[in-house]
Parts: sequence; structure tokens; C-alpha cells
Amino acid sequence: MQRIMITGGAGFVGSHLCDRLLIDGHDVLCVDNFYTGSKANVSHLLNNPRFELMRHDVTFPLYVEVDQIYNMACPASPVHYQRDPVQTTKTSVHGAINMLGLAKRLKARIFQASTSEVYGDPEIHPQPEKYWGRVNPIGPRSCYDEGKRCAETLFFDYYRQHNLDIKVARIFNTYGPRMHPNDGRVVSNFIVQALRGEDITIYGSGQQTRSFCYVDDMVDGFVRMMATERDFTGPVNLGNPGEFTMLELAEKVLRLVGSKSKLVFMPLPVDDPKQRQPDIALAKAKLDWTPKVNLEDGLKETVGYFQKLLTENCKVHT
Ligand code: NAD
Ligand code: UDP
Ligand code: UDP
Repeated sequence: MQRIMITGGAGFVGSHLCDRLLIDGHDVLCVDNFYTGSKANVSHLLNNPRFELMRHDVTFPLYVEVDQIYNMACPASPVHYQRDPVQTTKTSVHGAINMLGLAKRLKARIFQASTSEVYGDPEIHPQPEKYWGRVNPIGPRSCYDEGKRCAETLFFDYYRQHNLDIKVARIFNTYGPRMHPNDGRVVSNFIVQALRGEDITIYGSGQQTRSFCYVDDMVDGFVRMMATERDFTGPVNLGNPGEFTMLELAEKVLRLVGSKSKLVFMPLPVDDPKQRQPDIALAKAKLDWTPKVNLEDGLKETVGYFQKLLTENCKVHT
């Protein structure tokens, strides 16, 4: 049993990690400023004596005593991270410095939730960890992409300079229950639009691809990464190699929901990557990890979640 801190623990992925670590028998300290996360995501844990919730912004120093740290704090959807881009960069960079300083003082193992966005709009496909990426340093996505790249730099400099025990995972598109219904990400947008009978918004031609990993598989990858031997730092790709166009995703969602929503085509956001698929050979070899949940099954769970959420919201408003 360990005392484990999760920054961004009240967010979509972080809250599932809280669940998993409590089930595994650990004490969990969830630190969040509720910028995109919510108390509702962890409200079912508040009565658990091994769970503690702290409101805190990681851009400020934090003095607590824990054995391990998962650094997940950062808005992840383009709509949210572009709303206050300076704060996004601060969260990634100042947040990393503070959490690395904390880990250094405590000699604690620290995990960084990095991202496939470090590869930018990639010209190598699928993306292996050794690919350095193609990122625009001055575009609207840069606050997130470059913030996460700088955080990786800081993790590796603390590793080389201070011999810190680091674990860096590059997360590819992840979906599942507790995604924010208005966060603008493609899976939540399409499901909510299909359930409400609204038009499905396809950006660009819809031929761009993404590879979607169900959240339970992703969290399992985190836990396995955290348990690797000290000399394995990563970065390691975590994601589901199943690759789909946005048109294919829309068609699947419409079929599962049984919706008659129409597709409408809208402008492609600036610097939107054309393709993305993880090469997960390293995760297979080092973590003995492969995702188990296929897109169809994961979408069913996610549709069920949003169905319930939208019904409850309707009840509140009527
Ligand atoms: P999310 O927006 O649901 O969760 C992020 C959490 O961090 C929220 O609870 C938010 O309130 C909190 N937060 C933001 N700024 C903070 C700050 N300054 N101090 C304290 N807390 C702060 O997003 P998510 O999808 O759960 O993503 C979690 C992590 O995984 C992020 O670091 C994200 O970059 C990374 N990631 C996610 C995906 C994905 O597809 N979901 C892909 C790649 C990387
Ligand atoms: N820090 C923190 N909690 C700690 C220790 C450090 O938040 O328990 C922050 C502190 O604000 C510091 C940063 O982490 O600025 C980096 O710490 P480090 O020891 O690496 O550098 P320094 O203190 O020399 O700036
Ligand atoms: N997208 C879309 N319709 C939407 C939201 C997103 O077609 O309503 C597209 C978006 O342009 C991108 C892909 O879906 O090509 C994935 O977008 P998301 O914001 O989920 O993640 P990211 O671009 O960060 O991978």
C-alpha cells in the first residue's frame, strides 16, 4: 500500500485512475483546480477513508508527503486548452517544475501524462517513440503541444541532473465515461449530437484519422508503466492501434445510438493532424500491455454513460 498523489485527478482520465488505485488498495490524494474536471467525477469516492480531495493549482508550489506522483493536470481538449493558452503552458511547464521539485524532495517516483501531440502532424506512420515529431511552435495548438514537449524535457533533465525516478507515457486519443459533454472532443461531440438528434459536425473532409483507446485500457497501461524497473523511463506510447477516419467514427456512433442525425461538414481547425496511430511495440515488450477493448464495445459503454447523463440533466431542467 502506497500514498499516491494524482494531479488532475478530478478529470476524465484522472478520476478513473483514482478508482483503479483505490481498488488496488492504495491511499489516493487527488489534487485538482477543477478547471476542466469536476467534483462530480470523484463524488462517489468522497466517503472512502483512503481518498482525499484537495483544491490546488499545480502552477503553485505544493508541499505534501506521498510515495508516488501521477502528473495528469492539464486541460486536454483543443477547445479547453485554447481558451486560456498562457495558463495551459504554465500548467504544463510550471506544473512540471513544481511536481518534479516535490518528487525530488521526497525521492518519489513520478509519472508524466504526455501526449501523442508531441509528434504534431506526423510524417512517419505509425509513430514510434524515436520519432521527434513535426510541431508548429507558434500555432493555436502550440500551448499544449510545446508545453507537453517542454514538460518531457524537464522530466529528462531532472532524471539526468538529479537522478529522479521518472516515467513518461505518451497518451494517444482516449475516450470513455466521464468525458466532459461540452469539451469539444470528437467522441463526446458525436455521441452527444447523435443522442440529441443534432447534426454531426465533421471537421474538414472527415478523412483524417485517429486511434481511440478505451479509458480502462489506458489506466491499466499507466499502472504497468509505474511498476517497471527503475531504469525504464520511457517515453512509451500508450494507445490503441485501431485507426479510423472521422467519417467511420461518425457512422459507428450513428449506428450504435440508432440516430437519424445528418452529417454536416465544417472547416478543419488550424494544424489539425491528418493521421495518428501509435506504434506500441515498446509498451508490449516492456509493460506486457495491449489494449483489450475494441472501439465498438468502448463506444457502447460511453454511449450508455452519456444517455444517463443527458436524461438526468433533462430532469434537472424540467
Ligand atoms: P481533463 O481535462 O478531463 O483532465 C485534466 C484535469 O486537470 C482536470 O480535472 C483539470 O481540472 C485539471 N487541471 C487543469 N489545470 C490544472 C492546474 N493548473 N492545476 C490543477 N489541476 C489542473 O483531461 P483528460 O482527458 O483526463 O487528460 C488528463 C491528462 O492526460 C492530461 O494531462 C492530458 O494532457 C493527458 N492526455 C489525455 C489524452 C486524452 O485523449 N484524454 C490524450 C493525451 C494526453
Ligand atoms: N517544490 C514544491 N514542493 C516541494 C519541493 C519543491 O512545490 O516539496 C517546488 C518549488 O516551488 C521549486 C520547484 O518545485 O521552485 C523546483 O524545485 P527544485 O528543488 O528542483 O528547485 P529549486 O527549489 O532550486 O528552485
Ligand atoms: N473533430 C470533428 N468533429 C468534432 C470534433 C472533432 O471532426 O466535432 C475532428 C478534429 O478535427 C480532429 C479529430 O476529430 O481531426 C479528433 O479531434 P479531438 O479534438 O477529439 O482530438 P485531437 O485533435 O486532439 O486528436
